[in-house]
Amino acid sequence: MKFVYFFGAGKAEGSAKMRDLLGGKGANLAEMMNLGFPVPPGFTLSTKACLMYYEARKKFPAGLMEQIQVNLKRLESVMGKRFGSPANPLLVSVRSGAAISMPGMMDTILNLGLNDHTVLGLIKKSGNPRFAFDAYRRFIQMFGNVVLHVDHGEFERIIVEKKRDTHVTSDAELNQEALQGLVVAFKQLIHRVTGQEFPEDPLVQLKSAIEAVFASWNNERAITYRNLNHIPHHLGTGVNVQAMVFGNLGVDSGTGVVFTRDPRTGERRLYGEFLLNAQGEDVVAGIRTPEPVVHLKEACPQAYAQLINLCQKLERHYRDMQDIEFTVEAQRLYLLQTRSGARTAHAAIRIAVEMVKEKLIDQKTALLRVEPAQLDQLLHPTIDPKERLPVIAKGLPASPGAAVGVAVFDAHRAIQLAEDGRPVVLVRAETSPEDVGGMAVAQGILTARGGMTSHAAVVGRGMGKPCVVGCTEISVDEHQRVFSVNGQTIREGEYLTLDGTTGAVMKGQAKLIEPRMASEFKILMGWADSTRRLRVRTNADTPHDATVARGFGAEGIGLCRTEHMFFGPERLPHVRAMIMAKDTPERQAALARLLPMQKSDFKAIFKVMKGLPVTIRLLDPPLHEFLPHTEEEVQKVAAQLGVSPKEIRAKAENLKEFNPMLGHRGCRLGLAFPEINVMQVRAIFEAACELWKEGQRVIPEVMVPLVGHVNEFKVTRAKIVEVAGSVMRRYKVKLPYLVGTMIEIPRAALTAKEIAREAEFFSFGTNDLTQMTFGFSRDDAGKFLPIYLKEGILERDPFVTLDVSGVGQLIQIAVHQGRSARPSLKVGICGEHGGDPASIEFCHRAGLDYVSCSPYRVPIARLAAAQAVLKEKRVKKKVPLRRDSPR
Ligand code: ADP
Ligand code: MG
Ligand code: MG
Repeated sequence: MKFVYFFGAGKAEGSAKMRDLLGGKGANLAEMMNLGFPVPPGFTLSTKACLMYYEARKKFPAGLMEQIQVNLKRLESVMGKRFGSPANPLLVSVRSGAAISMPGMMDTILNLGLNDHTVLGLIKKSGNPRFAFDAYRRFIQMFGNVVLHVDHGEFERIIVEKKRDTHVTSDAELNQEALQGLVVAFKQLIHRVTGQEFPEDPLVQLKSAIEAVFASWNNERAITYRNLNHIPHHLGTGVNVQAMVFGNLGVDSGTGVVFTRDPRTGERRLYGEFLLNAQGEDVVAGIRTPEPVVHLKEACPQAYAQLINLCQKLERHYRDMQDIEFTVEAQRLYLLQTRSGARTAHAAIRIAVEMVKEKLIDQKTALLRVEPAQLDQLLHPTIDPKERLPVIAKGLPASPGAAVGVAVFDAHRAIQLAEDGRPVVLVRAETSPEDVGGMAVAQGILTARGGMTSHAAVVGRGMGKPCVVGCTEISVDEHQRVFSVNGQTIREGEYLTLDGTTGAVMKGQAKLIEPRMASEFKILMGWADSTRRLRVRTNADTPHDATVARGFGAEGIGLCRTEHMFFGPERLPHVRAMIMAKDTPERQAALARLLPMQKSDFKAIFKVMKGLPVTIRLLDPPLHEFLPHTEEEVQKVAAQLGVSPKEIRAKAENLKEFNPMLGHRGCRLGLAFPEINVMQVRAIFEAACELWKEGQRVIPEVMVPLVGHVNEFKVTRAKIVEVAGSVMRRYKVKLPYLVGTMIEIPRAALTAKEIAREAEFFSFGTNDLTQMTFGFSRDDAGKFLPIYLKEGILERDPFVTLDVSGVGQLIQIAVHQGRSARPSLKVGICGEHGGDPASIEFCHRAGLDYVSCSPYRVPIARLAAAQAVLKEKRVKKKVPLRRDSPR
């Protein structure tokens, strides 16, 4: 079996198409080699080799070591150097690379092959002993950390001491002697911590480095990252062994990262950073602050010109914005990596739309290039321009949007405070993969160090978090939980405002304003609308929400919950009077006082929706939710209603339920107290008829909640039709309306045929349907769901992403059965899942007519619905979807 794929001398055994086998990095290195680009030669161990390593209980599969040796020979002959030679040594990097890029998960080892003998060869060849010892100490440091698991900080401590002893401030100033001293000190450290000598044999170094990469596929960081991003665990990683090129050879050398377009705005211009006389991850590690890539023109004019040219070619070749790593060694340019670059939603949209204009891609590809969930970022507010908060510092604007929250200094605290519902801003010297959980819950991220491509910047952008990095004015003390800036001290818990668009850091809580949509957004949405089959409605209970949703393109209301209308201070007393009523006439009197209020609610909403369908759900929650809970409130309400506190307490006791979720709620309420439904239906139809008379079209859809048996619906519906008819006769108006039901109880789904004979529409209430199907109470699931997700018992939170195999099956049954009884049955979804892209894709495949989601998710749903169509076509044509790096 072939495990190793060579690339060198202008030709590669792999290509970009072999991403699954070679990993993204290896496949693209092969592709660039085939394109004739300057790539240092090397070879890639396939992901298959990694998987077989695990199958063989962490042993190299048969033949692998032999193939490595054969390819090492080839590499030696292409390079004209020998691995382990004390005269002219070949040095390599060992780099992980999975099919889906997993940033910062597995660290690269550079300069492998160095030992006390080969370092002499490196000195001879380069004529630069300082460089050679710098490379050597870096290698021991990386190898010691990544392969031998010696804590990174221990090496750093020795470097700090060395700088102090030699009176210099930066690593770059350490002289040859100092670096030589580090080599010795690092080896001693390794011996002390591990009890083993540092391996001098280059082949042993290579073999253990490769094993370390294999092992890192299953380290905790990697597993957490995959869980967070829903990346399967069975893919394995590739390993790239590549001849070294040196960016730390002097001031006509350097290393950097460029994006072919601006990843923040999408603007078409080269965007990147580099450091002279630096190696590997110096640029992203935030040790020194890098320079904008245009400055490379001065130090290395030819390499710069070539870089620009190759970047353009790569973008045209891949037809996507590329994120490229390069090194200049003594004025010669080398490309070390290319991949499609992570970008903000703004940039994703602009790039997609502009690339269609540039004829690089078609509209369908453009639609698939924007991650629907990312659109959320566009809806982030910005700081009110009238706001005059003091700017205390300025950093690099790494990810746009404004964030307000209290300062916290570690990921753990961030998570704690966020769980208490407090908005937090995570402040760190710099971030690392351990911080990702804290970054995910933060409103924004602030770091003292690091450039525009630092870990914080890249991860922040990917998450759509406002992010200010490289804010060198602040000095962060993570242990004391404070940072200081220009004589001021900010402690944990104090409010900060970040502007990720300008880099400003402010003290205090700024007022934020709602965003405005760019023209590219409208263009892309237009394409989405003409592609999708699913309609998109919104869940809105107020005219304000309905207006926002209309602005985002909602095509109706899929769920208007009426109980929220009962909670205002003018309404609650009447609702309570209705509950406390001793008999039906008394109850009717209270309801009569509520009627005009309900009517005006519906009128306002109908007006906003201008002739679009509006689904109104009849009262759903159990009545005890409206009663006072504390003794103080009981006293107050008693006085208000003119009853004794005792009566209220007795009523509350009487309404108390063992399991409210399964209690007296939904259609069961209206069956016990039909007057409630009568009032609501009257309000709906009086509002509709009055508007109709003014010449406005209104399409009410009355929805009965929590039906489990057809007879519940039958009886409720008869009353609705009777009241609606009498109102319309009174107004002499005949308007089209529908009466339907939510499907949120498994029994309803299973008996959908019977129900559809009576109901004109179904709307899947997937929040309750998920609760009832799993038997998980949503309010209690917080105690065990996190464990389920962590242990992999469930892959995803079923309340966020629809459980296709269980709940989804009930939906499919209900759609099928329902339509068999009534072909014109209208079917939609109104649970939280209506705004979740993966669930929307399912709804499309299940043949629903529409999804309904919260106003801010409407654009996400429009795009996801379009993608569902495009993905379905690809599946039919068997064209594999390209997996883009989530970074
Ligand atoms: P990551 O996946 O974290 O980006 P990489 O494998 O790309 O890790 O490598 C980390 C750094 O080392 C990058 O800056 C890369 O350019 C550099 N690097 C990797 N291989 C070589 C090499 N053969 N010569 C010089 N620099 C290299
Ligand atoms: Mg890395
Ligand atoms: Mg890289």
